Amino acid sequence: MNHPAIEQPADIVARLRATFATGRTKPVEWRTGQLRRLRAMLTERGADLAAALHADLGKSGTEAYRTEIDFTIREIDHTLDHLEEWLRPEPAPVPAHLGADATAWTQYDPLGVVLVIAPWNYPAQLLLAPLVGALASGNAVVAKPSELAPATSAALAELIPAYLDTDAVAVVEGGVPETTALLAERFDHIFYTGNGTVGRVVMRAAAEHLTPVTLELGGKSPVFVDQGADLDVVANRLARGKFLNAGQTCVAPDYVLTDPETAASLEAALVRAVQAVFGTDPAESPEYGRIVNERHFDRLSALLGSGRVAVGGDSDRTAKYIAPTVLADVDPESPVMREEIFGPILPIVTVTGLDEAIGFINDRDKPLALYVFTESDATRARIAAETSSGGLGYGLPLAHLTVSDLPFGGVGESGMGSYHGRYSIETFSHRKAVLDKPLG
Ligand code: NAD
Repeated sequence: MNHPAIEQPADIVARLRATFATGRTKPVEWRTGQLRRLRAMLTERGADLAAALHADLGKSGTEAYRTEIDFTIREIDHTLDHLEEWLRPEPAPVPAHLGADATAWTQYDPLGVVLVIAPWNYPAQLLLAPLVGALASGNAVVAKPSELAPATSAALAELIPAYLDTDAVAVVEGGVPETTALLAERFDHIFYTGNGTVGRVVMRAAAEHLTPVTLELGGKSPVFVDQGADLDVVANRLARGKFLNAGQTCVAPDYVLTDPETAASLEAALVRAVQAVFGTDPAESPEYGRIVNERHFDRLSALLGSGRVAVGGDSDRTAKYIAPTVLADVDPESPVMREEIFGPILPIVTVTGLDEAIGFINDRDKPLALYVFTESDATRARIAAETSSGGLGYGLPLAHLTVSDLPFGGVGESGMGSYHGRYSIETFSHRKAVLDKPLG
């Protein structure tokens, strides 16, 4: 960091702030131009990013494109299609005491220089999708990829300056010291994705400058499986959602709550589903990813003993491989139930029914996502009314975050603020109130 050739955080922010002050980032043409350049980066150099994602997380090409590269392209296209409409000033009714000639409206102003800090699990998507919103809102951006996905971080640090306006977008690589140095600077917004411990560090640093934050955090996202649900469908969807990216997904189903009778049949269905999706030896499946590093491998290995292994359970430290694993008869007090799993282990915890499931969920931190498999409208309604979570998925895990017109974000311990589509404009802009009373 002290090498004279490397630009210091204060200089980077000053340089970007100077660009912002010229007004260059504000016209919609600059914004859409940058989005098109970002799109070109993804289409022309997607293969480089996919190779980096494979190196960091063993992601298959299919998964890299589906969940990171094409995902971001869709977000760009949706934004390009709607940006002018989203930016249109919105009229507000004016009270009578101001006279019939007065008008009022809100308009979106860019914030200035914003900081985006990304995690390692979807290291491209989770840097680039916030970047889309920040650029679409007319900001200059400092982007900090995760050092725990080093190949992707290096690829992004090379590609972003090659495609985007380097006076308005800077990539800063590094870990804790580099991020700490960045956080000492004044930004106009900080968008952080990662864990709650660091989320608190970010929010404390932001408070020094009264900088608003978006915190995209995690936690244990529960699943409730109701009596009478088609368990083969449930198991298939759970297996695909849970074991994507080897379970290292912020909205992955963390654990299953169901009654004892359903649990027994669901367990058998999950065994079949895991074999149908990943084969009898998932270590050989090109579609199955790896754990990011040894530290997380060791943490996860220690959780494998928290219940009876229904399927999986085997692991290989040198390959950072942990099989897609379902644990049955899991005690709610066991280690696997005390922290966010963030890996390919799915515990089944039995409850007497819906009342106990709702109580169980509400006794814990508000989750980022909650998934419910049921045929009952009454169950759906009760879950919606009686629980709080960042998002709620009926019948399908993960997919709500692919709906560009839905806000994506947490509540309570799972985060604050949201983004995607027009919600990114809300996040990365100031909604300015304007009143116009003619002088005549
Ligand atoms: P991580 O370790 O890559 O950390 C995230 C970022 O924080 C990195 O850029 C890292 O450099 C930075 N960082 C780490 N320690 C820091 C410190 N002391 N000070 C300043 N910056 C620091 O990723 P992670 O936190 O392990 O990510 C996993 C967590 O993120 C899980 O809890 C997961 O649920 C959550 N997550 C949430 C979302 C979401 O969209 N809500 C998405 C993905 C992951």
